[in-house]
Amino acid sequence: MTVITKDVAIIGAGPGGYVAAIRASQLGLSVALIEKDARMGGTCLLRGCIPTKALIETAYLYSKARTFKEYGIVISDPVIDWAAAQSRKDKQVTRLAKGVEFLLKKNKVEMIHGRAHFTAPGALEVVAPDGSTQAVSATAVVIATGSEPRIFPPFDVKHPAVITSNEALQLASLPPSMAVIGAGAVGVEFASIFQTLGSRVTLIEVMEQILPFEDADVAATLHTELQKRGMTIHAATRVDSMTPTDAGVVLKMTGPKGPVEDTVSIVLVAVGRRPVTEGLHLEAIGVPVEKGFIRVNEFCETPLPGHFAIGDCISTPQLAHVASAEGKVAVERIAGKDVSPVNYDQIPFATYCHPEVARVGLTEAEARKSGHDIAIGKFMFSALGKAGIIGEREGFVKLIAERKYGEILGASIIGPHATDLIAEPAAFMAAEGTMTEMLRMVHAHPTLQEAILEAAEAWTGHPIHS
Ligand SMILES: Cc1cc2nc3c(=O)[nH]c(=O)nc-3n(C[C@H](O)[C@H](O)[C@H](O)COP(=O)(O)OP(=O)(O)OC[C@H]3O[C@@H](n4cnc5c(N)ncnc54)[C@H](O)[C@@H]3O)c2cc1C
Repeated sequence: MTVITKDVAIIGAGPGGYVAAIRASQLGLSVALIEKDARMGGTCLLRGCIPTKALIETAYLYSKARTFKEYGIVISDPVIDWAAAQSRKDKQVTRLAKGVEFLLKKNKVEMIHGRAHFTAPGALEVVAPDGSTQAVSATAVVIATGSEPRIFPPFDVKHPAVITSNEALQLASLPPSMAVIGAGAVGVEFASIFQTLGSRVTLIEVMEQILPFEDADVAATLHTELQKRGMTIHAATRVDSMTPTDAGVVLKMTGPKGPVEDTVSIVLVAVGRRPVTEGLHLEAIGVPVEKGFIRVNEFCETPLPGHFAIGDCISTPQLAHVASAEGKVAVERIAGKDVSPVNYDQIPFATYCHPEVARVGLTEAEARKSGHDIAIGKFMFSALGKAGIIGEREGFVKLIAERKYGEILGASIIGPHATDLIAEPAAFMAAEGTMTEMLRMVHAHPTLQEAILEAAEAWTGHPIHS
């Protein structure tokens, strides 16, 4: 058997692996990128970020179209064509997957189609879909095998009406009713999509608040907003059993006020994702795995020299932009560059429900717990001209900064374009700018960004518009 020999072999072509491959090639390294799926792009592009956001856009425009009369636009009642929405989503995915493949070719990355496992340090066997095998040998290996939905009892019900995010993206029709178990970003996004498109949605979360890791203020506002839109939310509620019947799936739960029951046509289980590290033979070559995650240092290097792991298969935030950032760190390290580790304190988190939610840095509770002497600057979108103009006045910007020197510790936003707006406080934090610099920056009027300046003014105790 011929052996493909490269400077770097990368397993997995998600946003971790493919970005690492392109950067490695840019740095002059020869690269093999091994992917078991037929298309490049991984979870993010094929089953995650991109297809969900395409459907979220459909849901958003549908809800907007129903308010057109207020804007002086008269149309007949908008109707959802689910097949067309799915087809548009699929087109976005196909276009971007082709784009990734084009970029990999342009950067002379050798793409190998098949499932890889280690036979020795630096040595891989790749099994193609037709069963043929290919040996790959590399001086350095980057493991970027990602994650998949985590299913455990009582959610491990094998029935077509009990699905994960993978199937939720391919539903042939809109379900009349849906229970979403797990109110993290993935669960909340799907709940928001199907609720907006007309399904009766129940969102269930075992923790005290939906979006359990977000600022309590933000989570409470989102809770109210989703309820206003007709969603039933059970927080602090445990699902005890799920039983498929002819009438639908019967859910038995225990909430703060005792037993709760619901019968729905579809149950979407979104209780987390587990790393994909089985079958790679990692232990056999000396790469340690803890609770399924590959152990790495701050440069994404495993204890086995020359072997790196990035993205969802290590225990850092499971986000596409984190995977890409780690991929660049890993290959720059392999190329011998002077590289800084990813700063996990400054990762933007985004949930693309409506209203949108985004955060960078600490929540208010975390900042108080950390012992910082903080002051809060908060500004409601309801007082902002641009928010009124676009008809989205819900939510607020909350800035958390150290009182004396104005060091920005965190920012949470709920409201229109929160996921884009969060880039401003994130940029200030990355550049070590303080509230002084933020207050000096002139913000264009009328824009949504002004809400950030207004929150900064509120932080000083001298708000202008509130
Ligand atoms: C519904 C949903 C929505 C999401 N939305 C967002 C979002 O809006 N923003 C965001 O930042 N993140 C989002 N995420 C998370 C994001 O998709 C992941 O964090 C990201 O894809 C992780 O990238 P990765 O490269 O580590 O792994 P993945 O994207 O999972 O890619 C891993 C690749 O490795 C391949 N592979 C695995 N094992 C092998 C093997 N043995 N041999 C060859 N190939 C192998 C897999 O086929 C896969 O293509 C979302 C996730 C889901 C499920």
